[in-house]
Amino acid sequence: MSGSATPAGRRPEWADLEPARAEDATGLLNLADNTNRFGSPPAAIAALHAIGSADPAEYPSAYGEPLKDVFAAYAGVRASQIVTGCGSDDVLDSAIRAFGRPGERFAALTPTFPMAARCARLNGLEVAHTVLAGDGTFDASALLASDPAIVYLCTPNNPTGAALDPAAVEHVIANARGVVIIDEAYAEFCGGDHARTAPARGNVLAVRTMSKAFGLAGLRVGWATATEALVREVEISRGPYKLSSPAERAVREVFAHDLDWVRDHAAKAVAARERFVEALRALGLSPLPSAANFVLVPRPGARAVALGLRERGIAVRAFDALPGIGDALRIGVAPWRQLERALAALKEVLACA
Ligand code: PMP
Repeated sequence: MSGSATPAGRRPEWADLEPARAEDATGLLNLADNTNRFGSPPAAIAALHAIGSADPAEYPSAYGEPLKDVFAAYAGVRASQIVTGCGSDDVLDSAIRAFGRPGERFAALTPTFPMAARCARLNGLEVAHTVLAGDGTFDASALLASDPAIVYLCTPNNPTGAALDPAAVEHVIANARGVVIIDEAYAEFCGGDHARTAPARGNVLAVRTMSKAFGLAGLRVGWATATEALVREVEISRGPYKLSSPAERAVREVFAHDLDWVRDHAAKAVAARERFVEALRALGLSPLPSAANFVLVPRPGARAVALGLRERGIAVRAFDALPGIGDALRIGVAPWRQLERALAALKEVLACA
């Protein structure tokens, strides 16, 4: 018996942490997590049906080898420059553990995708934040001022939506002493280039996911490009068997047969987003510019508005007091009929606010 108030097995430095989880959107129109509301590529569904009696007693590949050539061809790099993971969350976690020692600094913009900073904390790094403006500009020197071992950039950025200012990103890559992780989870909606260029940069790991434009969030497949040397370090940190064999098969089929489906539906999402932005403006709201499949809508009391939407069958994500922005709603893009439902509900909720 230790006699301390900390329960056995609880690390005191994690006292403020809860298990990360998203609000349940079961039975609701889910516009809360930026997944593909147009569905999944038919080739993936067919592959999952066809798996049938494939032997689940066998392990999958150790490091997602069957997918490395397809990701490499897609990004325009070599298979040896690809690392995969159980969702891009896992790639981020493995990379942060590989490139940052406990006590070193992890620098990120704020607001941004919070899971990266959470992984940094869980791996013992200290997190330093620099404010990001809604238009994607930021002070690159300030971001590097803490001498970080790792810099995390997300472009287009979640939750703000805009792509990061390319000149500031370039400044970070050219001047960082450590590894620069560039999260391109939403690149398919605006044509990101870091996955192609990362291996030639030497210090960049460009992270992608099957969870957004590819419509396969449930299969948990993420990947990244970097030099062979960086890939090796991330794989040491990651460990084997992170992709299931059904996921490997389904993803291979999508790259063989359904890249047009992915591109076509990403274009549909962008068109729906532009129409949605106009409709939000007509309601008197001021959505931030977005290059992704969601929009961030600043609105005081956003949490109450999200609750009102939830009561009307629609799940969106509410944020409180985002730096430089205030309270805001993040609303995922969907087929226009679904967005019309969301707009009608939003009109009602705003009318009673
Ligand atoms: N990066 C960003 C920017 C995200 O928004 C998300 C999901 N919300 C992820 C990574 C994680 O995606 P996954 O683990 O499903 O690949």
